[in-house]
This record gives sequence, C-alpha cells and structure tokens, in this order.
Amino acid sequence: MLHDAVIEATCDRERCHESVFVPMEWVYHDLYDSSGHYDHRDTSAEEKLVDEFGWVVQDGKHFCSSFCAEKS
Ligand SMILES: [Zn+2]
Repeated sequence: MLHDAVIEATCDRERCHESVFVPMEWVYHDLYDSSGHYDHRDTSAEEKLVDEFGWVVQDGKHFCSSFCAEKS
C-alpha cells in the first residue's frame, strides 16, 4: 500500500502514547510546472495539528489534548 507523505506527531506527555499522522501539503514551485516539494516545515505541521486534530502546542512541545498540556 502506498501512503502520501506524512509527519508523525507524538504526544509529549509522559506515558501518553497518542500519536497522529499529519499529511504534508504538496507545494508547487510555480503554476506552469508540475514540480514541487512537500511542505515539511514544523510550523506547517503544527498549524494542522492544532486546527485539524485539536492538539496543543506549548513551548515547542506537542500535546494531544488540553488535558495532557495542563498536566505536564
Ligand atoms: Zn496526550
């Protein structure tokens, strides 16, 4: 089976082993060219984590829920 490129995010709370796969966006270099690259910047992945998966990013750490973020 083939998968699209993803970034795996794991919850930074101890003993919480929650993880998700955040899909990377394909970025075209220009409109007339089909070449491009996957957007693998951490900031792009973090935006998706927060917006689409409801994760919390705090001090460079990643938590699967506000519960995990508060208890750290
Ligand atoms: Zn967690």
